[in-house]
Amino acid sequence: MIIEKIDTYPLLYRLKNPYGDANGYKKYRSCFMIRITTASGIEGWGECIDWLPTLVDGFKHRLIPYLIGKKVTSHTQLVTTIGKWHQRSAAAISMALTEILAKQSKLSVCEWWGGILHHHIPVYASFQSYTDQEKWINHSLDLVEGVIHEGYPMVKVKVGGKKLQEDQAHIQALQARIGHQVGIAIDANQSYDVATAVQWERQFQNWSNILWLEEPLPMDHLSDYKTLRSTLSVPLAGGENLIKPIQFLTLLADGALDIIQPDVMHMAGLGAFRDTAKLSRYYGIRCSPHCFDGFLSRLYALFTQATLGQWSKMEGENIEPIEWDVMDNPFTTLIPLRPQNGVVTIPEGIGIGVEIDQEKMKAYLWDGSRYW
Ligand code: MG
Repeated sequence: MIIEKIDTYPLLYRLKNPYGDANGYKKYRSCFMIRITTASGIEGWGECIDWLPTLVDGFKHRLIPYLIGKKVTSHTQLVTTIGKWHQRSAAAISMALTEILAKQSKLSVCEWWGGILHHHIPVYASFQSYTDQEKWINHSLDLVEGVIHEGYPMVKVKVGGKKLQEDQAHIQALQARIGHQVGIAIDANQSYDVATAVQWERQFQNWSNILWLEEPLPMDHLSDYKTLRSTLSVPLAGGENLIKPIQFLTLLADGALDIIQPDVMHMAGLGAFRDTAKLSRYYGIRCSPHCFDGFLSRLYALFTQATLGQWSKMEGENIEPIEWDVMDNPFTTLIPLRPQNGVVTIPEGIGIGVEIDQEKMKAYLWDGSRYW
């Protein structure tokens, strides 16, 4: 089980119609795929995200020379070392080595992790609500309504990038149009202070379908999160950009959140990600992974939920939903996995249980030119 070859696939898709959140408009979607092949011919895929020139150079000049000739069974040591250099690359390598180890054992990833507990995982449709159109609210409502017809019972929309009154008008219009059909999560991408965030409470009092308020404040404002948590009548969620389990442990120990949202690609390997998910169970707090930025990392988030103990004994609520990107993003179609009525059935074949469409992937290979 010696690493013999690593192929890399920087992927870029330029958006015809930019969309965005409080952090600005996205003009492109990118992702960086790697395929590790062992001397015995077993292959494993990994995925990460960062500025593509950084990843191309980092893998070519440092990570691939370091990894060639190493044992796959040194997974923990390899991921720990690379996690000190570049944690996002460590996440990709962790995925690829995990798939190889599962395949070598002729097991699915879930079996290799100890066995599947949930065969079906709920997902919520995740939107980037802002466009540069003047009538962005109408556009958002049409987008959400279209996806609800596909059967999603939960959605997440964005606030925090417009004036409070404009964002509230958006959510009020959304409630009027589809609020009776779905649960709605609201994501502010760390835009507010406490005084602004609490102004949502008057609205929340009128609505029974708010799933959570996500990252209203900067994530390092722990005491403000505690204040807000005791003030708001809806759950508080956050943590998508944190990279270490200790950061989540601090949030949990301080009682700052109701729902933690680790992201597979933002943490230094699947071990750290799964440790974080398990922390939620020790604290009796929900874990609803963030996975907007990748299709393979989302699959590993699904595997993690599928092997995590139940959160609740309530019927239909024993496992938390994960995020499903429903915006214009062709990378989603690189594996044949789609929700049905807002639920994903976990693939149970050997390894990751699905094939990556390499022919389709080639169409999005970045040629090294400017992003836009
Ligand atoms: Mg978010």
